[in-house]
Amino acid sequence: MPSRSSINFFQQYDRLLSNEELDQVLRAREFCERAFSRSVLGAHLAGEAIPAEWIGKWAATGMLGLQAQRAHGGLEASYVCKIRVAQEMARHGFAAAFCLNHHQGGVTRLSQTGTPAQIEHLLAPAVRGELLLTTAMSELSGGSDVSALTASATPVAGGWSLSGTKAWLTNGMVVGGLIVLARVPDAAGAGEIASFYVSLGEADTFHRKEIMLPGARSFRLAEITFSEHFIPEWALIAAPGAALKTSMASVNAARVHVAAMCVATLHSALSEAVAYCGGRHAFGKPLVAHQGLRWELAEVSVRLEAANALVFSAAEQIQMGGNPMGLAAQAKKFAVDTAIWGIDQCIRILGATGASAAHRLNMHYAEVRMAAYADGTNEMLLDRIGRGLPSSYPT
Ligand SMILES: Cc1cc2nc3c(=O)[nH]c(=O)nc-3n(C[C@H](O)[C@H](O)[C@H](O)COP(=O)(O)OP(=O)(O)OC[C@H]3O[C@@H](n4cnc5c(N)ncnc54)[C@H](O)[C@@H]3O)c2cc1C
Repeated sequence: MPSRSSINFFQQYDRLLSNEELDQVLRAREFCERAFSRSVLGAHLAGEAIPAEWIGKWAATGMLGLQAQRAHGGLEASYVCKIRVAQEMARHGFAAAFCLNHHQGGVTRLSQTGTPAQIEHLLAPAVRGELLLTTAMSELSGGSDVSALTASATPVAGGWSLSGTKAWLTNGMVVGGLIVLARVPDAAGAGEIASFYVSLGEADTFHRKEIMLPGARSFRLAEITFSEHFIPEWALIAAPGAALKTSMASVNAARVHVAAMCVATLHSALSEAVAYCGGRHAFGKPLVAHQGLRWELAEVSVRLEAANALVFSAAEQIQMGGNPMGLAAQAKKFAVDTAIWGIDQCIRILGATGASAAHRLNMHYAEVRMAAYADGTNEMLLDRIGRGLPSSYPT
């Protein structure tokens, strides 16, 4: 078992954890550092997604049901514990951690707010990793303006009939269940947006198509098109008109979660760069002994620590029951920008090898770049921050 304090960067988060939660984080660290780490990089270099077998192994380490109720096989872990597990994985593969997080979100929601029928049908296989879940809000015509979505769930006997295409679905190539937002038409016109658990199973009323992301296929992004796909009555989550509010309730926590993964991935990249520059020599001394290059690494560390402080501040507020809208947007914006910039610096600082298969840096770069879109683009985040300025910074 690794030492409890082997990475000081994460100590402030770990101080908020119970012993049981800390053990879970250390289990995740040990798991991620081994064959999983090699497998993630191997898949990236082969231009493939991470092998699906890992999902069952995530389940065996308790990662999938982290925040589910104990009665449902979970740990009832805190928000910061979930973040720390994701950070341990994001050090080895950001996309893998992102996929883990999406599924965990579905499991937590089911366990905490699912009806008895939803829990009976979906929860046990989801905790075991046999049924992967993800949220399906975005469509091909746009993701930022969710209120404009067009997928429809038309009332039919015993439930609804779903038609339309959902796009940019994390884990979309392997999910068995989706939390779908769709418009329920009514007599007056286009109707209101509702949300549902949509099981895919063996039905022939949907088809998936991979959204190719060269260098970042481990997100397993897909679009899924439904054609009169049946949704039973028990699968309703939020009634027409209530779904947007329900879905957006957790958006701040999701943003900080992504931001926390970004700082972990940049920490991993900087550690790799520092180690390499300590071992390689030029002009008779190690690269780090050259002041110009050492300052460049130092600059990355300055911004990384600043991003981490911002992320921790937001995470701590959420852990204590807060829902810091502006701070969460600031943390995600700054952490994503810093990680993209910092990983690129690390690649360049190493010389030509930085961009080669000898290092994990190109993979980190390709995957972290995608964080700039998911859970709010920079423009949407700045808009959110801007609208809160008068209350955040009163005279
Ligand atoms: C890796 C990854 C995983 C994802 N996973 C999921 C998932 O599991 N489920 C899901 O539903 N979606 C998912 N998404 C989709 C993601 O939520 C959308 O990409 C995001 O909401 C932005 O939507 P869009 O890409 O359609 O861009 P658009 O909404 O078309 O926006 C295009 C550009 O216009 C800008 N823009 C839009 N509106 C404004 C405005 N008012 N002011 C200024 N600028 C504006 C945007 O910032 C962006 O730069 C994922 C995306 C990625 C990259």
